[in-house]
Amino acid sequence: MKTILVLGAGTGGIVTARELSKRSGNEEDITLVKILVFEKEETSVYSPSLPWVMVGKSKQEEITERTDKLDASGLEVIKGEIENIDPQNISVTVKGKQYQGDHMVVSLGVAQADIYNLAQFGHNFFTLNGAQDFHSELKKFDGGEIAILVSSLPFKSPAAPYEAAMLIEDFVRKNKLSKNTTISLYTPEADPMEFAGAEASQELKELLEKKGIKYYPNHELKTISGNTLEFNNGESYSYDLLAYTPKHQLPAVIEKSNLSGTSGWVDVDNKTLETSFKNVYAIGDITHVITQNGAVLPKIGVFARQQGAVVAHNIAKKMANQEPDQTFMPEGKYFIEAGEGKASETGGKFSEQNVKMKTPAQWGHFSKWWDEKFWFFKNF
Ligand SMILES: Cc1cc2nc3c(=O)[nH]c(=O)nc-3n(C[C@H](O)[C@H](O)[C@H](O)COP(=O)(O)OP(=O)(O)OC[C@H]3O[C@@H](n4cnc5c(N)ncnc54)[C@H](O)[C@@H]3O)c2cc1C
Repeated sequence: MKTILVLGAGTGGIVTARELSKRSGNEEDITLVKILVFEKEETSVYSPSLPWVMVGKSKQEEITERTDKLDASGLEVIKGEIENIDPQNISVTVKGKQYQGDHMVVSLGVAQADIYNLAQFGHNFFTLNGAQDFHSELKKFDGGEIAILVSSLPFKSPAAPYEAAMLIEDFVRKNKLSKNTTISLYTPEADPMEFAGAEASQELKELLEKKGIKYYPNHELKTISGNTLEFNNGESYSYDLLAYTPKHQLPAVIEKSNLSGTSGWVDVDNKTLETSFKNVYAIGDITHVITQNGAVLPKIGVFARQQGAVVAHNIAKKMANQEPDQTFMPEGKYFIEAGEGKASETGGKFSEQNVKMKTPAQWGHFSKWWDEKFWFFKNF
């Protein structure tokens, strides 16, 4: 029996494992292909809903599930931290035990690091705890300076800080704190969502301006103290409440494997997602995908899902001794929350930097809410 190792039960790993299971004919009591999913966390968090948690619009129980609930329909979850990956021999080690496979799909996402000691002063809203703690502080807030800080590049979900800013503005206005509150967004980026092209970037900037959110591009953090952010361009600003994105880096286990490439991430073929090792694929945030016209693909769940489906399809073909015939196309859409119960559909051809951002609408907000519900219904 063939064995497939799926590394990580996050967005990409879950889609890959479910698709593999479906395509290989596995059922509840019939296992034709062994699909082993490796995951270190007990709980799976649906990250696109974290900005809602920051403003009290989502609760922990709505956006989390136990990872062992994935253990059904022909796949098996191996719990524990992957200690070693050997792509040459298609094997991984967990709790000292080695698992060997015929194919391997790496979807371990990014590791987060706090290089500026930001946790001492603010809230990392790229974690559930950080988003919850921010909300606890926001509830007590009675006016002042709120800062949203992008602490380093690249970061996943390039729209998330902008969503957070607009949702916070909505909260502040509804709680009648607008008069004595300033919301500012500081980032090293030259423009928001640069990958999308100038038009979408401009749309987003105009939206921020309309809402009175101050935007500070080209601001790279130098240091932070109890109430001041100091930037490399010499400017400094005070804050009372801080939400930040952490530094994103390769998980240590990838760093010490032979999988890390010259890009600093895992280099893959941009169509098949295969690494330089035969039958070893990498998908999602851990990869560095350069589109045909040279643009670097943003780290978003939409692409982790699409890549997982392509890779699962092609592995199933290989197992049936057929030619793999699907390729990944960097096209897709996602929703940017804009407050007032509305969200903007944003999408298009990412390879051509032809990404459009629509006017925020209620149906966009509903679609984002539905995506979350359907994700849990389908996968857990
Ligand atoms: C605040 C926020 C908002 C977002 N909003 C959106 C959005 O609206 N739309 C969108 O498309 N994307 C969004 N994203 C991005 C999206 O969540 C990621 O792009 C997506 O989850 C990437 O999938 P992945 O499989 O590559 O990594 P992940 O989903 O991060 O999965 C990696 C998994 O690997 C596990 N793992 C790591 N190391 C090990 C190890 N050594 N051993 C065992 N297990 C390990 C981790 O625990 C994790 O479960 C958002 C992200 C954040 C933080």
